[in-house]
Order: sequence, then structure tokens, then C-alpha cells
Amino acid sequence: VRIGVERLVLGGRVLPDAVIEVDEHGMVAVLGAGNGAGAVDVSLGTAVAGAGNAHSHAFHRGLRGRTHGDGGDFWVWRQAMYALAGRLEPDTYGRLAEGVFGEMLAAGWTAVGEFHYVHHRPDGTRYDEPNAVGLALAAAARRVGIRLTLLDTLYLTSAPGERLLPEQRRFGDGDVEAWLARWQELAGAAGGPSDADDTVTIGAAVHSVRAVPPEAIARIAAALPAAVPLHVHLSEQPAENAQSLAAYRVTPTRLLADAGALSPRTSVVHATHLTADDIDLLGAAGSSAVFCPTTEADLGDGIGPARELVDAGAALALGSDQNAVVDPFLETRALEAGERLRSGRRGRFSPAELDDARSTGGYRALGLAAPLTVGGPADLVEVDAGSVRTTGSDPTQLVLTATAADVLRVVVGGRVVADRGMLVRAGPDGRDPAALLAAALEELR
Ligand SMILES: [Zn+2]
Repeated sequence: VRIGVERLVLGGRVLPDAVIEVDEHGMVAVLGAGNGAGAVDVSLGTAVAGAGNAHSHAFHRGLRGRTHGDGGDFWVWRQAMYALAGRLEPDTYGRLAEGVFGEMLAAGWTAVGEFHYVHHRPDGTRYDEPNAVGLALAAAARRVGIRLTLLDTLYLTSAPGERLLPEQRRFGDGDVEAWLARWQELAGAAGGPSDADDTVTIGAAVHSVRAVPPEAIARIAAALPAAVPLHVHLSEQPAENAQSLAAYRVTPTRLLADAGALSPRTSVVHATHLTADDIDLLGAAGSSAVFCPTTEADLGDGIGPARELVDAGAALALGSDQNAVVDPFLETRALEAGERLRSGRRGRFSPAELDDARSTGGYRALGLAAPLTVGGPADLVEVDAGSVRTTGSDPTQLVLTATAADVLRVVVGGRVVADRGMLVRAGPDGRDPAALLAAALEELR
């Protein structure tokens, strides 16, 4: 497959008349520019690299537009979230995820990391297929054509030393060895990590230091193959830091470091309330920090030290988390907006740095090679550079002016998978993500 792009915005530069040759695995074989397109299979106008959504809980989409009258804080919102989690079954969750992944794809997220912990029946017993829910999520991603890293999550306690609450029972495997055995089965059943032809990768996650004791974190950090991405919620709330200090006398970041869980394959999600020592540890480890700015704003979490983390050596990625907003451009802009609000300065990140967090940073966190590099995924997003929002923009600053409404065609693995908001690969009933969502949400009311 040969894809021609009139203006390809990549690495802070505009490549005119770019041609991308895609191999049989959907990876970039050759990337050239300015050499006359010749015959191409797909011809795009202005395009940017694919976007990696490094943190999602697909089912939270069911709360969008329904909790804003509740007031309270993160912990109040969590009660509504748990009530919804309790109603999910593998088939209904699979259909909801298909709508959510479809919305993401049409919005210009070409890859997603699903932080998945709703593993078992509501009473905590296993389904006949112990990975029924995870496999339903993988099937949903394949149906719409988004690239998925399924981050199967270990969840053991409600707080340090405390048993799971009744509404958390379905998240737990009982102990780390049972989780590891189920994870191995999932990795085998879903095609395994880095199967060249597949768009599904199996990663792993520790829910948080609230939900997993240090010995179990150390066990999985040592037991998982080195290439497997490992994610963990980190210091989203001051209460988590207080619990960690009370139970273990160290911050959550120090606890992860002492457990051998901080490395370049590690992604810490939120990283909102950190000490200077925490920032140094994450930077020295070369870990990724996944900011979820629209969620953190919605839940009143706070604004994390993004610039300081990057300056210390950490990589940056973005996530849609609760999916109240599914828009890679708004997420990227909110990262810089948070920096400006906390620092009183503009341009804390350059447009190229922001675009890198949106694309390469997200892919890195998901265990994927950078999109639109030779050997990396042929994933890209065509953007309307002449819309009412974007017209007049320097193409290298489109990331600061476009929204998901400006996304035209979306290409994953060299194939067009969405076109002006509609899914291309799904069956005749499944082309409109809004219709998929409406049907799936109705089932869960
Ligand atoms: Zn999360």
C-alpha cells in the first residue's frame, strides 16, 4: 500500500508531498517526501501521526453527562462509577467498548491502552472463560480497527491491608499468583505480545499502591517479560499519598522504585501530587508519565508537574481516562493549558513537544514503536486544515487549533478505518459510533 500526503506534519516540520509505503504487517517500509507521489492507493491532504491514548477505562463513558450535578469529589464520583461497573457483563461491555473505541478512532486516537480490571462476575467468582471480559474488549477493538494494548490489571485490596469492598470483588484475583496465571492465559489466547500482524498487544497494570501490596508489585515486576508494558495509577489524590505514608512510610513513587517497578517500560498514570524526590526517581528511571488533563480537571484532581517530569528525564503521554472527553487535540491542549495556569507562563511545551506527547509518547507507553517511523506502525490522521477552527493555522500548530471535529480520514496499519466520523471496517449496522454507543448505553441503564 502506498499513501500520499500533501502536507505531513511530523516532528515539528511539514514534509510536502510525502509518500508512505506500508508493508504487509501494516508497518512503514519507506517514508519519503518531495519526490513526486506517483501512483498511490490513498491520497490525503494535511495529516499528522497517529495518536496513542495511553489510559482509558472504556466503561466510564457510561457516566458522561450524568454525574455533573452530583458535586463532591473523586470519591463521590467513584460511587457512581462502581454502580455502573457492577452492571457490566462480557457481552454488554463488549458492545459498549465497541462504541467507545469507535468514538476514539473517529476522533483521531489510533491506539488505546485499556486499563482493565472488571475481570470477574459481580460476586467475584470467575466466568467459565476467566478472561471473558478482556477477550470481549480485544474483539471490540478488532471490530472497529483501533490498535489496542490491553492492560490487564492486578487489584487485590481496597486500601493497604484492607479486604476488597463488596463492589470491588469482581476486580480481584485473590493473589498475585492467580493473577499471573490468568495473565499468561490471556497473553496466549489473544495472540501474545508483539504479534506482528495483530493490532492487539497484551500489557499489564498494577491498579495502584492502594490496591496492591509492595511484595506483589515486586513479584510481577520480576515475573513479567521485559517487553510487556506495565502501568500503574500514581498519586492522583493526596489521600493515596497519605495512605502510603501511613502504611509503608514512603511515597507511592518511592514504593514503586523500591519494588523494582520503575523502568522505561513503566507508565505512571496521573502523577499529580509528587515530591521533588518522586520526580527525580521517575526521571532517572526513564518512565512515562501519563497525564489525563480533561479527566483530572473534571474530577478536581489537580495539575501535575509535567514540565518538571520531562526535564528530569521522564517521557510524557496522554490519556482520556474516564472518557468524558474523547478528543486527542483537546487533551493535548489541556496539558499545555494546565502548565500555563500553574506557572503563569506561555509555551511551557513547544507545539512539537505537545505533538510528540500525543503521538510518539502514547505509543511508547503502550509498548509500540513510534508511528510513522520506518518499521513503526503506519498510523496517521488526516486533519481539515481549512475548517472554521483551523483555517489560517501554521500546520505545525494544528495540534493547538484543531479538534476531533476536524478529523477526516484515520489510517491504522495502512488501512483507512474511519472517514469523517464514520467507521469504515465495521458491518453495515456498525458504521456510526454514536449509534453503537446509544444502543450499548441503553442496555446498561
Ligand atoms: Zn484510571
